[in-house]
Amino acid sequence: MEITQHARYICTFCGKNSVKRQSVGIWDCKRCGKTVAGGAWTVSTPAAAATRSTIRRLREIAEV
Ligand SMILES: [Zn+2]
Repeated sequence: MEITQHARYICTFCGKNSVKRQSVGIWDCKRCGKTVAGGAWTVSTPAAAATRSTIRRLREIAEV
């Protein structure tokens, strides 16, 4: 988890890899100035959310 703490992420608004974590759940893009509320350690993206729900669905199927 500590590894991702100072990493930069792709901005969902301008597409540049300039999003940095301001504090827990707060992400700020240095390029376009957008501030987004995301996850504690990673910026939540639609793709990530879709992946999470898919994994959860697969796990539920596996448990039944
Ligand atoms: Zn941006």
